[in-house]
Amino acid sequence: MPTNSLHSLDVAHHIHPVTNLRRHERLGPIVIDRGEGIYVYDDEGREYIEAMAGLWSVGVGFGEPRLVEAAAKQLAKLPYYHVFSHKAHAPSTLLAAKLTELAPAGLSHVFFTNSGAEANDSVIKFVWYYNNALGRTEKKKFISREGAYHGITIAAASLTGLAGNQKGFDLPLPFARHATRPHHYRNALPGESEEAFADRLAKEIEDLILAEGPETVAAFIGEPVMGAGGVIVPPKGYWPKVQAVCRKYDVLVIADEVINGFGRLGTMFGCEALGIEPDILVCSKQITSSYQPLAAILMKDSIYQPIADQSEKLGMLGHGYTTGAHPVATAVALENLAIIEERGLVARAAAMGEYMRAGLARFADHPLVGEVRGMGLIAALELVADKETKARFEPVGKVGLKLFDRAHDHGLIVRAIGDSIAFCPPMIITEAEIDEMLRRFALTLDDVTDWVN
Ligand code: PLP
Repeated sequence: MPTNSLHSLDVAHHIHPVTNLRRHERLGPIVIDRGEGIYVYDDEGREYIEAMAGLWSVGVGFGEPRLVEAAAKQLAKLPYYHVFSHKAHAPSTLLAAKLTELAPAGLSHVFFTNSGAEANDSVIKFVWYYNNALGRTEKKKFISREGAYHGITIAAASLTGLAGNQKGFDLPLPFARHATRPHHYRNALPGESEEAFADRLAKEIEDLILAEGPETVAAFIGEPVMGAGGVIVPPKGYWPKVQAVCRKYDVLVIADEVINGFGRLGTMFGCEALGIEPDILVCSKQITSSYQPLAAILMKDSIYQPIADQSEKLGMLGHGYTTGAHPVATAVALENLAIIEERGLVARAAAMGEYMRAGLARFADHPLVGEVRGMGLIAALELVADKETKARFEPVGKVGLKLFDRAHDHGLIVRAIGDSIAFCPPMIITEAEIDEMLRRFALTLDDVTDWVN
């Protein structure tokens, strides 16, 4: 029940995303008041370890004074300007150049949006515009995967492969197709090796392209490691195999690095870790550590050139957002990327990730734990009713939700994706803090085990 005026005002007036709204009316909000390092504090002073870095996003941790200062300086100098019709400002131009320096080779042109969903929506439009420019007016379909998360605008939510984001919204739109989630634990055949599973999935994508007609399939989009679909690390060899199929049929490869980008997998971008050479890359979240809303689309020159030609033919590129390439957001991004480089946070994420995953692996013998998986500093632990048969709890998500709730009592914020529990802490986390995070998790798991039995 709401307990103070902020709580009751929230329940009365505020519609929360990704929330059971009736449950929210009953329980009221947890009001997060401030943050410091890997910790956040609620309005009653309770401390929580933010084991999800917010929404997989606060890479440098909470309360970083350099980002506050960068924002304040830019607000004082030029709080707003757009980049429509030939206008530019230093932070967004410098950030565009910086991103092309950090990104996989060949991604030389950058477009900014406010969010990951807007970026993926824009990618769909850019790809359609590109194919129209080349006279390939039928080549418009996108292949995504079940379990993918690419955001919630109408087109991006069509690429997303999670029923919870589509049910009730008349989605997906018909341009989107979904291939099998590359999850060996759940989707491999009995005795199938990772390599054989990857071969089968690549073949499935090839069959899909052929069935649809290669002249109608524009692009394949995927997160190098899936995040919101349950932290799914693809089987060995998956991406190079899928990429080879795409190249064969002139299907663009789009890497959605909104979660993976800027160190999360222990490499600057997930593409490096998984052998992807994307035609288009989308990034957001850790680009500013989410201190400001910002996302970026990076594309190869071979995609940019027909788009530029078409803009001249049609008079302009008729696409853009009032607050896209925002000077404060891009100034904060530049400072955030400087911090990531100066403090070696990419290498740190690799080292701390190894430590965290070794700690989580100790839960693998627990009777409720079916699989422990992850890469770099992102991991998940899947709870099952029966370890031998991998049978899920019914209904799926009930035990996950219980664990998510109980974790708060132990000063821990995790994410429950169905019955998979995700961990994605700030990249500044220390070994001692990981130990404490896992201690709090162990207490939570004990509570949930008692509740299940
Ligand atoms: N793509 C991926 C891989 C994401 O994880 C997300 C958000 O979690 C998005 C896109 C959408 O980003 P946003 O919530 O900023 O629209």
